[in-house]
Amino acid sequence: MTRIDFRQCPHCGGYGVRDNGDNCTTCGGIGRGGLNSPAGSCIGSGELMYEAGTGRQISHAEFMTIVSSEDRYG
Ligand SMILES: [Zn+2]
Repeated sequence: MTRIDFRQCPHCGGYGVRDNGDNCTTCGGIGRGGLNSPAGSCIGSGELMYEAGTGRQISHAEFMTIVSSEDRYG
């Protein structure tokens, strides 16, 4: 099983929104506008994921693949 470490995103301090009000794309946000985002965009998760052991960063898409393939919630 892949162990994943969660760390606070250094670009938004865990808020999912940058200081300038834009969504933080580093941790998974899409588009602009922060908390007042128009439909179709979203703020970041505020966390980055790393594979424990190797320290390799894991994207949100990859995380979903890992979770579903290992069926850890099923
Ligand atoms: Zn972030």
